[in-house]
This record gives sequence, structure tokens and C-alpha cells, in this order.
Amino acid sequence: MRARCVLFVCAFWSLSIIAYGQTERPIHDMGLISTSSSPNARLHDVPIRAVSLGDGFWLPRLQANQQHSIPELYQLLEQHGVIDNFRRLSGRKKVDRRGYLFTDSDLFKWMEAAALSLQSNRDDKVRALLDQAVEEVLAAQGEDGYLNTYHVAADGIQRFSNFSDNHELYCLGHLIQAGIAYFRGAGERKLLDAAIRYADYVLSLFGPDKRQCFPGHPEIEMALVELYRSTGEKKYLDFVGYLYSGIDLERLEEKVSKRHLQYTFSGIPFTERKELRSHAVRAMYACCGAADYYMETGDQDYWQTLQTLWRDMTQYKIYVTGGVGSRYSGEAFGLPYELPNERAYTETCAAIGAMMWNWRMLQATGDAKYADWFERGLYNGFLAGVSFSGTQYFYRNPLTSYGDTQRQPWYNCTCCPPNVERTLASIPGYMYSTSDEGIWVHLYHTSTLKWRIENGVPLTLKQETAYPWRGQVLLTVAPAKSCEFTVLLHIPEWAPGAVIWTPDGAMHDDAQPGTYYKIRRRWRKGDQIRMILDMPVRLIYANPRVREDFSSVAVMRGPIVYCLESIDHPGYSIFDLIKGPETMQTFTLQSETLLYNAVVLESEASLYQPGLETAPLYEYNRIHTPIKKVPVTFIPYYSWANRGRSQMQVWMPEKCE
Ligand SMILES: [Zn+2]
Repeated sequence: MRARCVLFVCAFWSLSIIAYGQTERPIHDMGLISTSSSPNARLHDVPIRAVSLGDGFWLPRLQANQQHSIPELYQLLEQHGVIDNFRRLSGRKKVDRRGYLFTDSDLFKWMEAAALSLQSNRDDKVRALLDQAVEEVLAAQGEDGYLNTYHVAADGIQRFSNFSDNHELYCLGHLIQAGIAYFRGAGERKLLDAAIRYADYVLSLFGPDKRQCFPGHPEIEMALVELYRSTGEKKYLDFVGYLYSGIDLERLEEKVSKRHLQYTFSGIPFTERKELRSHAVRAMYACCGAADYYMETGDQDYWQTLQTLWRDMTQYKIYVTGGVGSRYSGEAFGLPYELPNERAYTETCAAIGAMMWNWRMLQATGDAKYADWFERGLYNGFLAGVSFSGTQYFYRNPLTSYGDTQRQPWYNCTCCPPNVERTLASIPGYMYSTSDEGIWVHLYHTSTLKWRIENGVPLTLKQETAYPWRGQVLLTVAPAKSCEFTVLLHIPEWAPGAVIWTPDGAMHDDAQPGTYYKIRRRWRKGDQIRMILDMPVRLIYANPRVREDFSSVAVMRGPIVYCLESIDHPGYSIFDLIKGPETMQTFTLQSETLLYNAVVLESEASLYQPGLETAPLYEYNRIHTPIKKVPVTFIPYYSWANRGRSQMQVWMPEKCE
């Protein structure tokens, strides 16, 4: 799927210059989040359309996303009445409203996914579906700008009467994001104008000196910051400051407990938060918006809080896969080290939220620790959420399954599928950033970047690599004219011993893992960098306080977390296996065509004989001993459950001798 962005550049765009801060930027040049004028962002955005992916890991995923996932989800949104809900409002259909109160957001997220995918590749079918959806949404908007299908209902539920639960501002946030993506991806601003009318209606009613509101489910915060970046209208940024400052409960027209506000991660001053104890997706989205707010305002209290919360997540509450939100109850973060495997909730949306937050922290700082966790989530916790076909999705992502978990094409609460789709469509926009130093390379994939460095010199940068299966990367740097700048290469935290050859032929072995390696020179067309990231199989141990992982080991290679799946181990149970010292380091690499040429790891383990299903549940003074060595196959965690119903485990018990 090569980008053919030239087809999209129309005369309209040449008039679409957004001016705020110190710079002006055409709307179609804006990236996923446009930080190019954000005074406290060290890194600046590169648009999706500037990157065309070549063959490799992500290309078939993005093709399946545009050719199958996006069109098929549109049909499911039709079948389940989500689009009819808008037709009911516009009078185009006489039907009852269907679905949860927040289903509008599912369509808006789908629209964002479709629009983002069009930035990489023109697809007339997707464009037609998107235009059709936009028309249905626009026709449903009220005279005053209000646009929510649940609250213009026959059951008489008043609009803005229940911020605790009714998701109106959440849905508006997704409408704004869809409008921005449609404008940036398709060059049409009518959906953005509709979102602005609705946002302005909300701003006319609520605020510090008006009626009180709070999001209930954060999302609108990051959308409004992006609306500020897209329009230059500071009132949207100021409203975000109002939302994050907490509500005056005395003046709020509905009754809500502080405990509920705590859970919804809204309504309480953001800067008073000390830990992640709430609904996981809400917390991640709130942190995304707060990071956006910090990049625009430089408010140090926000930055301190963001760092405190990020430490809480990465020290205590994130899975080895990059998934977050361990508790079934309330889809919530648990206590420190509370990371169950089979009962892991780890909603796909929460993994996506953690990635979006890490991305924003990376844009603010250029600190590679955020890129490391972003990459961990991308290849594992997020990617497990969708099948190879692109049409089956996980809502929750356990790290152990007894065979009762399968992806589904649709959920009654179908927040995750369109979120997966917009994230896949976003991937080219996550590969690079610029700064006044030069060009930052965050992700490795065969691709061509056609962009510019910040002194205005056009730059072509080609990557050739088989990442994430091989650590060799060849970069060809071609500025339009010879000039001095820095190429900053992400050296993942798992890659000690990286070796880099610069164009002068010099070999460098001083790159530290978990940093960006800087190569500053006067670059000429055709200069090449070669890099080798060593990819040994690594055994991962959890802090012993994580009781579920005690005396167990997980396997990683490069950014990929591996697991065992029962389909590869006929004749015995994967839960009767132990990885002991005598079988610990014996891994060989194989390419598995059934898993789209993924590298699988062949190894050995010790097997209980007879199988443990014959043993009683409890016994006195007897320890079972695994006695037989058997071959085992570790597959990438993201690829499990693609070959039928299967048992799976990431953490394998370890025999200590
Ligand atoms: Zn979800």
C-alpha cells in the first residue's frame, strides 16, 4: 500500500492554512497530534501521508485494515442500528434508537479510522462509505449544534442531565477527532465545522462562571487541545483547563459522589491525582489530554502529576505486554503488583490509551523510555486485540487462557474494534518526528519518508529492514541539498550491544539501550547508516511481588512477547510444562508461514508425567516432578487465537534447582 497522497492535494488545501503560535502549517501537513507549534513539545509531528510503508510486518495489517476491517465494521454498524440512530434524528428513518448510550462514539471512531487510512492510501470504497457516514451525521445535527442520538430520544432523558454516566462530552470528543481526521485526510471541513458548532454550544452553556460540567469519561480533553491546534482558537484550550481544574460540587446540578469522580478520572483537579486507581481507559485518556495540555501551557504541576502517574503505571501496574487495567471489576487499575494473568482485563482500548499517552510524553520530551513502552504496547498488548484477518477483535486480553477466549467481530459495547482500526491506520504517523536538531526515528519498518527537516530542506529517508524479526536496519538519507542536522535513532531498552556504522565507515558500539543515538553531520544525498540491534531471546522475570508470575518466566525477543499455545503441543497440556535450567537457553528460530512468517522459537521444556489432570487437587507431602523433556514452540503473543480455539499462556512456571 504505497501512499499516493499527491492525488489528494487539492486547491482547497492550499487555502487551509492554520496559524497559531509562531508557525503556519497547511492542515494536510498536520500529524496525528500536531505539536509543531506547541511551545513545550520537544518533538514535532510528521503526517501519515509523508510515510509510505514497503513490504514488511505492518503492510499486510494496514492493507487488511483498509480493505476488510473498515468496510466490514461499517456494515456491522449499519446492522446494529448505530447509523440508523442518526437517521432517526434526521427523519430519514422511522426506527427506535438502538444500542448503548455511547454508540455515536463508535461511528465517530470508525470515521476517524477511515479518514486516517485515506492519508496512506486512496480507496474509493472507503471514501464513499466515509462520505455517506458524514452526510448521515450532519443531517442529524440540531439547530443549536447539539448532536447526540441518545439524548434526543423518545424516552425523555434530558441532555446534559447526567455527566457521571451519559458520555455526552466523550462522544463530542470523538466527533471532534473524526472531524479533524476527515479534514486532514480528505480535505473536507464540513464534519469539523459540525463538531465546532457542537463544541461552541457546550462552551456557551458551561464553564467557570456558568453551569458546571465534567466529562464523566475523559476523551474530550485531548480532542479540544487538538481543536485548538487545528483552529488557533484558545477558548478550546481554556475549556480543557476548566475541565481539569475540577468541579464545584455545590454548583453542580446532579448528585455525584467523590468516589465516583475518582473512578471516572474526571471532576477532581487532575493535579491532585497521585495514583492510577480508576477505570483504565478513562485514566489513560485523561493522561493523554493532560499531556497535550502541558505541551501547550507548560504548567509544571501538570507535568509533575503526569510523571507521578506514569511511574505508578510502569513501576506497578502494566503487564509485560504493555496492557493495562488488570481488574474485571470496573474495568479498572488494580493495586500495585495486582496483575492476574487469566483474569487480566486489559481492555484493548486501555492498551491503546497507554500507547497514546506514551506517544504524547515522547513528543514532550524526546525521552526514549516513552518510545520503549509505546513499542511494547504496539507489538503486544494492542496487536493481540485484532485477528490476522482484521475482522475479529478481543475486548479483553488475558495472558493465560484455558481455551474459552476467542476474538469476536462485534461486541454490544464495541469500543475496541474502531479503536483498533484507527490505531492501525495511525502507524505511519508514529514512525518519525522532527525537532530543531533533526529527524527522529522511533519505529523501524521498510518505508520511505518524504518530508522536510525544520530548516525547510526537503528530506527523503528510506528504511530497509526485516524488523521486528531481524535487527538489521539500513537507512538512506537524502536531503534535497547538503546540510547539517542530526539523525536520532531509537535504541530500544532491550537492545544492548547495538552497533552502528555511519556514512564515513566508522563503527560505533557506544549506543546505550533506552536512548536515542545521535548522528550529527553534514548529510549528502545517498548517505547511509547501517545499524544492527542484537536480538537474543530474553527470559523475563517479574518482581516477586507479582504473585501470579512468581517463579515463572516469560520469553521475549526484540519487542515481541511470546507465548505457548496448545495447538502447537498436541498430546499433552501446556499447563503441564515447566521451563527448567536444563532447558532454559535452548532456543532456535523458525519462520512460521501459518503465522504470516513470524519468527517462532523452538525450545524444550519438562513435562509432568502422567499429566496433572490425573493428580488429586491437594496432597500431603508430595511434590510432583516433571520428568520428560519435550519440544515446545513459542509463538508471538499477538498471534494467538488465530488458528481456532486454543489454550495459551505467557508466563511459564520455572523449575528452580
Ligand atoms: Zn474498548
